[in-house]
Amino acid sequence: RDDMLVCAGCGVPIQTEHENAPGFAPASALEREQLVCRRCFRLSHYNEVTPTAIGEKEFLEIANTISQKPALVVKVVDLFDFQGSWISGIQRFAGNNDILLIGNKVDLLPKSINEEKVRKWMRGQARDWGVKVVDSALVSSQTGRGVEAAATYMSKYAKGRDVYVVGCTNVGKSSFINQLIKTYGAAEEAVITTSAHPGTTLGLIEIPLEQNQSLYDTPGLINRHQMAHVVSAEDYKVVFPKKEVKPRVYQLQSAQTIFFGGLARLDVVDNQADVVCFMSNELHLHRTKLEKADELYQTHVGGLLQPPTEETRESFPDLKEKSFSISEKTDIVISGLGWITIRPKNKVTVRVHAPEASGVFKRVPLI
Ligand code: GDP
Repeated sequence: RDDMLVCAGCGVPIQTEHENAPGFAPASALEREQLVCRRCFRLSHYNEVTPTAIGEKEFLEIANTISQKPALVVKVVDLFDFQGSWISGIQRFAGNNDILLIGNKVDLLPKSINEEKVRKWMRGQARDWGVKVVDSALVSSQTGRGVEAAATYMSKYAKGRDVYVVGCTNVGKSSFINQLIKTYGAAEEAVITTSAHPGTTLGLIEIPLEQNQSLYDTPGLINRHQMAHVVSAEDYKVVFPKKEVKPRVYQLQSAQTIFFGGLARLDVVDNQADVVCFMSNELHLHRTKLEKADELYQTHVGGLLQPPTEETRESFPDLKEKSFSISEKTDIVISGLGWITIRPKNKVTVRVHAPEASGVFKRVPLI
């Protein structure tokens, strides 16, 4: 349409309603001669990218563009919610292009981790899901740890090609790119500007790296399975870890239960097991007898067992059960909440109760 306003930076159609969607500009900006979306505005004035989010359909459109060009695809995942923040079908998106896997939020993992093992574990998970990655790196976009090493990998594997950074919302993709800008910016004293892509409607943001080579920030894919979509904003503050997670160890006997606030619970049904919980340090864990667990939940969710709180429990979904038979050290993941490493004495049956929307599954132990 002729009257459609487009961003002079990235070419995305301008809209004034949805702050987190591509092309947002405040209504007051429409008067400007050089109209740019807020993301481009912030990038050119503050050298800072802002997160934006899109749905599956738009994401596929972007994917089609990427898969047809020679490029390096940098896929950012949240180490604390690895599977929950995984983009299924990423291989199709990347086409024949190389994928470099970046595990962000390494600051949340215990300091004692062996980084080399975690990187290998990441590649192993990717392989199990049919995705070949050229390499993996661990970073904290919060502290800057590992970012320079990641930048070195990026330039090594890009081999002069463009770089596309992709990820689900909330994995810390914007924070990661901002760290990169700081790193590059400091080296070259360069002010980063966006450049126009006539006809682009995808909300890709271009950040020039070197001659003929650019880094593109893509909007984040909304992943509805994340715990963030199930709990209230208030409760999310308790659930989402902000610091290094301290593993909490329990020796559970047969027919014992452990509650994770009022959000989920784990029953050890028929044998003993050591249970190590990796969850936000602020989340209250409560151990009880399996036979009492149902009643305890009914009476105390929102009180002793919280979050959810008294106010938010009404809108919190019912817990659904899922059973696992475990005979060796295994992680049980409650997507978005964290994970539990089970070390069984012998074969043991465990049952997880959690909101259906948040994925519950077992995996090879991360640590
Ligand atoms: P995006 O949606 O993927 O662009 O993610 P953002 O960069 O906006 O980050 C999402 C959330 O994760 C924010 O609350 C950040 O503060 C947080 N975050 C990002 N990177 C890190 C990190 O390395 N460590 C920790 N602990 N939090 C992070």
